[in-house]
Amino acid sequence: MEPTLALAMELIGRASVTPDDAGCQTHIAGLLSAAGFHTESLVFGEVTNLWARHGTSAPLVVFLGHTDVVPPGPLADWTTPPFVPAIRDGMLYGRGAADMKGAVAAFVQALIGFVHRHPGHPGSVGLLLTSDEEGPAVNGTIQVLKTLASRGESIDYCLVGEPSCQATLGDTVKNGRRGSLNGELVIHGVQGHVAYPERADNPITRFAPALQSLVSMAWDQGSADFPPTRLQFSHIEAGTGADNVIPGRLRALFNLRYGPATPADVLRARIEEVLAAHKLRYTLTWRLSGEPFLSTDGPLKAALAASILAETGHAPHYSTGGGTSDGRFVAPFGAQVLEFGPPNGSIHKVNEAVSVDDLARLTRIYQGTLERIWAL
Ligand SMILES: [Zn+2]
Repeated sequence: MEPTLALAMELIGRASVTPDDAGCQTHIAGLLSAAGFHTESLVFGEVTNLWARHGTSAPLVVFLGHTDVVPPGPLADWTTPPFVPAIRDGMLYGRGAADMKGAVAAFVQALIGFVHRHPGHPGSVGLLLTSDEEGPAVNGTIQVLKTLASRGESIDYCLVGEPSCQATLGDTVKNGRRGSLNGELVIHGVQGHVAYPERADNPITRFAPALQSLVSMAWDQGSADFPPTRLQFSHIEAGTGADNVIPGRLRALFNLRYGPATPADVLRARIEEVLAAHKLRYTLTWRLSGEPFLSTDGPLKAALAASILAETGHAPHYSTGGGTSDGRFVAPFGAQVLEFGPPNGSIHKVNEAVSVDDLARLTRIYQGTLERIWAL
């Protein structure tokens, strides 16, 4: 069996729902150690991370991924069990097949193939895996990066294996991501009887016009690389459940996906201005999930594009769309970060799958990228 397919099946067979790694990283560390990599397990809290490196000099090129997966949901909805790999019609099925055990398997085999062919390669190659990408992402990649930085190990180029493609392998590379800013808003009112509204202060009534102002706001026009900033409310709650009580408070959650055109502190100030203009009594708590980043042209981008073209015939489209990934943690350390992985149509769904052919092609693209960075 083709080694990337075999490894992907091995990993899918381990039910590594966040943050449980279920032995995936130990298995991978064994393969990389046998190929001459220095490997170490970095455990923070209940999160297991793997750092593997071959070579000691710069530049350091790192493949970044995760071994954890999202829960499968109701098992009865799956055609075959989510943690039993199954091949049907050229597709490998199982939770994590596309997000992202297929790409992790391709990373590992590309690294092994690379050091086998180029044992005295210049620079260094590495693999960073976490079991906390789909969860809070507090004790995962960011902690490993801090550890590496404290030792003076700095990453120059980082390729994230998240499923970036849309319809076919090679159609899309993510060259940056929008920032993500979360707000939890509590509007304070005064509880009372609906028949005596003059003795109460209804936070729903007070908030409605402010909500309208916020959702109709044009934050910016975006830029060549980023779509316009968007605000979405994800949750609103108020009330006791009784139809004769004016609630004393309203709680709302919202998120902004934003580009560099409007920094997070400007967004925060503009939202507080709206709330102040509507004379609301409120408490607002902010949580910044990630700053926007954009990777510029450079050796990694050129090497990846050439490898994709050679393998698939596609000149990839570059996108900053979609959700965040752990790439957001790497970019602030000064590395060039790109994301390239298999088509993402089935991720987080039942019957998640990846093309068996794509696994082999992905492996050649990843190995070819390393070789092209050093023109080997
Ligand atoms: Zn993922």
